[in-house]
Amino acid sequence: MKLPVVFLGHGSPMNAIAKNDFTKALAGLAKKLPKPQVILSISAHWMTQGTFVTHMEQPKTIHDFQGFPKALFEVQYPAPGSPKIADLLRQKISNPEILADDGHWGLDHGTWSVLKHIYPAANIPVFQLSLDMTQPPDFHYNLGKKLAFLREHDVLIIGSGNIVHNLRAINWNENAPAHHWAVEFDQWVKTKIDKWDFAPLVSQYLSSEAGKLSVPTPEHYYPLLYALGATSEQDKVHYIYEGIQNASISMRCIWFGF
Ligand code: ZN
Repeated sequence: MKLPVVFLGHGSPMNAIAKNDFTKALAGLAKKLPKPQVILSISAHWMTQGTFVTHMEQPKTIHDFQGFPKALFEVQYPAPGSPKIADLLRQKISNPEILADDGHWGLDHGTWSVLKHIYPAANIPVFQLSLDMTQPPDFHYNLGKKLAFLREHDVLIIGSGNIVHNLRAINWNENAPAHHWAVEFDQWVKTKIDKWDFAPLVSQYLSSEAGKLSVPTPEHYYPLLYALGATSEQDKVHYIYEGIQNASISMRCIWFGF
């Protein structure tokens, strides 16, 4: 059986240690999904030139943020890596060449802040794929398509970013009312997904004012394109969570599968 594909909003790193409606929704997700053998995470926070996969047996937990409480820096997510599946991916995909990272990266908070709620035991191997920031949106969508075969190998593909992510417009109150443009763009994306009309999500997301404000930089949006790329037409769409935190961060989470 094919494993589902998931897109997760992750928002503030504080969600890693918070208890709110969003983290509760994540905590309920493992029961809905078949248990994966391996997890591939495409996180907004690993930006590179060229495309890399983490290739270590034991990836380190990376605390890639500043100015947060000590408790957040103490979080560890000691899941093993999966050099074997990383190598399978490197063999299967020749364009682009996927490079092995044996020691630089690990698991960043885009990965562990959400997995901590879904699989708290950290006993399923996890590896990450980086975002080649020199490449245009359709490169990321097409690479997502090439990842889809992993679903047949019991790999759960997770894109972790945010559909709306504007830190300049942020309100530090988590429950602050959402900006109207944030709601508008988040709904536009949902409507396109519901109609299985992905092309505008790849090529026209900056065509509205709401889109420009919601995606001022692309790194949190690209993980969605990987997830969309890895879907197949037979998949059904399920929304795990919908909502806007901090006025300008969409926490919408989606799984595509049976
Ligand atoms: Zn982030």
